[in-house]
Amino acid sequence: MKRNLVPHYSEILQQKCEPVEFNNSEVMQDLVDSFKAGPMIGLSAPQIGINLQCSLCLFSTGLEIVANPEIEYLGKEIPSMERCLSFPHIVCKVMRNDKVKLTYFDSKWNKKEAILTGLDALIAQHEYDHLQGVTMIKKAVTKQFKRA
Ligand SMILES: [Zn+2]
Repeated sequence: MKRNLVPHYSEILQQKCEPVEFNNSEVMQDLVDSFKAGPMIGLSAPQIGINLQCSLCLFSTGLEIVANPEIEYLGKEIPSMERCLSFPHIVCKVMRNDKVKLTYFDSKWNKKEAILTGLDALIAQHEYDHLQGVTMIKKAVTKQFKRA
């Protein structure tokens, strides 16, 4: 089911999400139905009002469901200028890691491990943070409003 983005002030964006149960494919389907490639490179369940640890990420290898992720920071900190559809008029500078190991369950509930770099690493960290109730606003070193 396609769901709308919750407004930026929603409590759910600030809360740590619950783990997904292995047989819950509904949240995965809702993410797929709500995802709009182009404006989105990642979408997390709390952004569409679901308090579960599940994201949809547009990695360089394709769209990937990321459920119950764990992340290990392997590289060095770099600044990243980020946008988030939950905060449409803001660009934030946040510190990210340039290399991470992401462990997660995919849409078929296979456990996967991926070493990610570049944009893939940034997407994984941004979406992982959403599932912890941490928005880019919370992490921002600086923030600015986009020009219309
Ligand atoms: Zn976001």
